[in-house]
Amino acid sequence: MNASEPVLPLHSLTLVDLEESLTAVGQPFYRAKQVMEWAYGREKRVESWDAMSNLPAALRSSLEEVHPIRIPEVVTVSGSKDTTRKLLLRLHDGELIETVLIPASPALYGEESDRRTLCVSSQVGCAYGCKFCASGLDGWKRHLSADEIVSQVLLAEKVSGERINNLVFMGMGEPMANYQNWLQAVSILNAPWGVGLGARKMTVSTSGLVPRIRDLADQPLQIRLAISLHGASDEVRSQIMPVNKKHPVAELMEACSYYSDRKKQMITFEYILIEGVNDAPSEARLLADRARGLRAKINLIPYNTVEGLPWRRPSEAAQEEFLSILQNRGIAATIRREKGHDIDAACGQLRRRIATSLQV
Ligand code: SAH
Ligand code: SF4
Repeated sequence: MNASEPVLPLHSLTLVDLEESLTAVGQPFYRAKQVMEWAYGREKRVESWDAMSNLPAALRSSLEEVHPIRIPEVVTVSGSKDTTRKLLLRLHDGELIETVLIPASPALYGEESDRRTLCVSSQVGCAYGCKFCASGLDGWKRHLSADEIVSQVLLAEKVSGERINNLVFMGMGEPMANYQNWLQAVSILNAPWGVGLGARKMTVSTSGLVPRIRDLADQPLQIRLAISLHGASDEVRSQIMPVNKKHPVAELMEACSYYSDRKKQMITFEYILIEGVNDAPSEARLLADRARGLRAKINLIPYNTVEGLPWRRPSEAAQEEFLSILQNRGIAATIRREKGHDIDAACGQLRRRIATSLQV
C-alpha cells in the first residue's frame, strides 16, 4: 500500500491484506473471502458494508471505519450503447477523472467479436507534459489510489451491464509514475477473488519510465507493454516529450528489449502522426529500424486536435505513405482509426471540457 494513504479503502486491499486486517482484530480467516465475494462477486458488487448481510452488524460498522467503501460518483455517460462510451467520474475529494469503454470495432475484430476494452486513468492530470496531450495541459494533481483504479472497471461494468474483457491503461496520467498503487490495482483486477481479468488482457502504456519498465519486467505478471514513442530520433522525440531528455531513445529501447526478453512478448509502439513534426520519411525509416530490433509492432494514431494546441494530423495520403514505409520494411504496423475519437478525442479532453463547464 501507499504509505501516504490515510485510509485503506476496501477496494484497495488484496485478499491477503484483508485477511491480515481481520485476523488482527480476532476475526476468523474465512471472513475475508466472504467480504471479497460481496465486493466482487458477479451478482453482488455491493457498495456499502451494510449490504453484507452475513456479517455481524458490529463487525460491519467497525470495518466501515478502517476500510471504507468509496465508489466514485458517475457524473456523465456520453456516447451510445454501440459506440465508445465515456464515463466522467467524481472522486471522494471532488476531482474528476474519465474512463472510456470501447466496444470491439467490427472492422478490426469481425462482426462477432465480443471484445470490450476499457481505457483506464491512473492519475488526476499528468506531470509529464507531452506537447500533444490534453492530460498534461493542466499539470499533475495527484495519484489515483488502487481503489480509484479498480472502481473504474466496476463502474464501467455496472453502467454498461456488460463484462469488460480487455483493459488498457491509456487514460489520464502516467501509470508507471504511480507504480505502487497501479500494481496493487492490477493484482486486484487480476485475482480470481477480485475482478478476474487475465494479465494478458491488460496493456500498460508508458511514456518511457525506464526504471519502472525494468521493475515490471521482473514481476511475474504477463501484462502487455505499450510505449508512447511518437518520435524515433532523440531530436524529434525530445521536442514533443520532455521525458526523453531524462531517458533518451537508446536507453528506452534497451529497457524494452529487457522487457520483451523477460516476458517473451511482443511490445507495441504507439506513434501519433503529427503533420510536419514527426511524419518525415526519414523518421519512418528510423522507426522501422527501432521496431525491427525489438520485433515490436507499431500502432500509428492520427493526431487528434487538442484545443489550445497548434498541430494537426497529416493528410490520409501522407499517413498511408508513412505506413507503407514501415510495412515495406516488414514491420507489423497499422493505423488506428477508432470510433468516438472525433468528439473529445484523446483521453483527458472530456474531463477538461466538463471541468471547464462545471467550473471545478
Ligand atoms: N501516460 C501514458 C499513458 C497515457 S496514454 C503514456 O503516455 O503512454 C497516452 C496515449 O494517449 C498516447 O500514447 C496516445 O496514444 C494517446 N494520445 C494522447 N494525446 C493524443 C492526441 N492528441 N491525439 C491522439 N492520441 C493521443
Ligand atoms: Fe502524460 Fe502520457 Fe499524456 Fe505524456 S502522453 S502527458 S505521459 S498522459
